[in-house]
Amino acid sequence: MRAERLFALLFALGLAGITPLRSDVLSPPAFAEPAPDPKSVAKTNDHKLPDFVPDGRPLTFSAENNSASPAASGKARSPAPETSARTIKIKTEPIPDAAGAETSSLKSDGATLPKWPEFVGAKNLFGKVKKPAPLSARAIGYYSRGCLSGAVPLPIDGPAWQEMRLSRNRNWGHPVLIALIERLALDAKKYDGWSGLLMGDIAQPRGGPMVSGHASHQVGLDADVWLTPMPKRRLTRQERETMEPLSMLDSTGLAVNPKTFTSKQVALIKRAASYSEVERIFVHPAIKKALCEAAGTDRKWLGKVRPYYGHIHHFHLRIKCPPGFAGCRSQTPPTGDDGCGKEVDQWLARVIPAKSPPPPRPRVVNVRPPRPPIMLSDLPAECRSLLAAAPDPVSVPSAALMTKVAVRKALAKAAAARAAFAKVEGIPIVPAKAAAAHPALRPHLNKTTAAEKGK
Ligand SMILES: [Zn+2]
Repeated sequence: MRAERLFALLFALGLAGITPLRSDVLSPPAFAEPAPDPKSVAKTNDHKLPDFVPDGRPLTFSAENNSASPAASGKARSPAPETSARTIKIKTEPIPDAAGAETSSLKSDGATLPKWPEFVGAKNLFGKVKKPAPLSARAIGYYSRGCLSGAVPLPIDGPAWQEMRLSRNRNWGHPVLIALIERLALDAKKYDGWSGLLMGDIAQPRGGPMVSGHASHQVGLDADVWLTPMPKRRLTRQERETMEPLSMLDSTGLAVNPKTFTSKQVALIKRAASYSEVERIFVHPAIKKALCEAAGTDRKWLGKVRPYYGHIHHFHLRIKCPPGFAGCRSQTPPTGDDGCGKEVDQWLARVIPAKSPPPPRPRVVNVRPPRPPIMLSDLPAECRSLLAAAPDPVSVPSAALMTKVAVRKALAKAAAARAAFAKVEGIPIVPAKAAAAHPALRPHLNKTTAAEKGK
């Protein structure tokens, strides 16, 4: 552990007054669904903003009459308005090479292995957006395939929270989610011994895929809540960038550390899961196991708490689609089972830390195309309009409009070029199946990719 990390850990522990987990203090009070906070309800309804214009038609937004209207009414389906669009430099997203360093290692006679193509993914566009679209609040699409209009920010400082990693500009969400976060923070302070919550990523100003970190968080209904207690002072901007969250796990990586994961963390997760708006909560399997053991006889809330990869520093809070907009795709609700039997044990078996580093990769050419990024065409059509909405619209370069078919074609072409290269150089090709099986050749099986599949 680096010295500053150790310092941050000791610092946070000291400030938090952490006590080890005791089973007799695991029944936080007042879990009856509290009445909705009138202030937050007002905030949600107070959205006197123009409605969203569906069908992928371009939007204009006039500050004077506060209304959005199709740039050209009727049938016009012209591309995004170019006049006011900010010209942005789009960085293409190189697809992570399934075989890491192979490109450089396979040089011979000046020839190099053809690279996989680069695409302008939806994340490259939504990652550039600085401001929300001031339209009706709408979670458009699905948690891992969508965007967000009418986002509101979680204030970076509140009576019971502080937002972390401000440089990311990801403190935006659907007003219903933002109101719920504020309520959770206040309740945790009032009932559960928290001085406040440290808040992680919520969503980008217009949602959408992100250039780093998350498969979901796209429609403003997901938020990460740190499990590290909030220090009783205002953190500086710098501290909010660099302060490391505490891991809740012990050195085995398969159980919680009672020094960091205490009755306070249990109470917080239980409280969050008990709100009717909450659809699911994701935690590391070891945390789920600990919650199962700590829950006692009140177990209904456990069904919403789902084990997942990662999530050792924070829990992921997901709310249901707010009523009133059909374009928000909801998730099948959890079964109602507490998930504490076979399920959590199977999850624990999946996350056993590897003891030895993966075997060195053989000298082969992988021709199995990597998974392409989410393209704009993979998102609901409204998401394109959303990029074009004032203020601060983002222009969409034609490269970002590639269809799925075109993407697949480009990848197939590259695969063929790589196969041809391998033949000339006399390097064996890994067939798709073998590539999938070999740990060193598996295409970028990182948390994000896995999360996208499973969540
Ligand atoms: Zn998350």
